[in-house]
Amino acid sequence: MISENLKNILSNISDEVTLVAVSKTKPNSAIMEVYHAGQRVFGENKVQDLAAKAEALPKDIQWHMIGHLQSNKVKYIAPFVALIHGIDSLKLLKEVNKRAAQNNRVIDCLLQIHIAEEETKFGLNEVEAIQVLNAADELKNVCIKGLMGMATNTADESVVSKEFAGLKQLFTKLQTTNSQLKIISMGMSSDYPLAIRQGSTMVRVGSAIFGSRN
Ligand SMILES: *Cc1c(COP(=O)(O)O)cnc(C)c1O
Repeated sequence: MISENLKNILSNISDEVTLVAVSKTKPNSAIMEVYHAGQRVFGENKVQDLAAKAEALPKDIQWHMIGHLQSNKVKYIAPFVALIHGIDSLKLLKEVNKRAAQNNRVIDCLLQIHIAEEETKFGLNEVEAIQVLNAADELKNVCIKGLMGMATNTADESVVSKEFAGLKQLFTKLQTTNSQLKIISMGMSSDYPLAIRQGSTMVRVGSAIFGSRN
């Protein structure tokens, strides 16, 4: 049962780790089952689904945008989104800042860092992340709260652990000059225990709660 999956996961992670229940592709009825079990933080990876679900479901849900975000779609989520995990360019951050200002909001964001071996995954390298962080000082309607990363999709735990450790190391380094950094979003259904061992403060778990996606 979905609510039992949630309880099992929560009982295995400390209170200091935030669980984002990734509800992408799942119907509102499944989300409400998790909601009634007490969960209030949910993540979606498509703007259209995020906006539709936020409209239909209880207003005390904190909605996280966890997927790749295109600049031209920021306006649809700017009124309500609680955290954007995938900031991967200054252009995108500037658009979030502009749309946040139009909504009289400050939107919390994470910089997505490229940590995986795969070429295709989005994200910034260290030099780019520092550039975006510096530029963000001038943007009054966004706040960079931390970093997000996705490990290589492999059964080799040593590879995954090393990638997570690298993200934690970069986080610690950037924190020395950016004290507002608090969140390391890393770990999904298959690797969240490894991620937490490497210092994750926020895990994004979908299939381990909701069951596999088609
Ligand atoms: C789908 C998704 C997740 C959750 O994946 P599961 O393997 O189902 O836990 C986490 N993060 C991102 C960015 C995703 O797109």
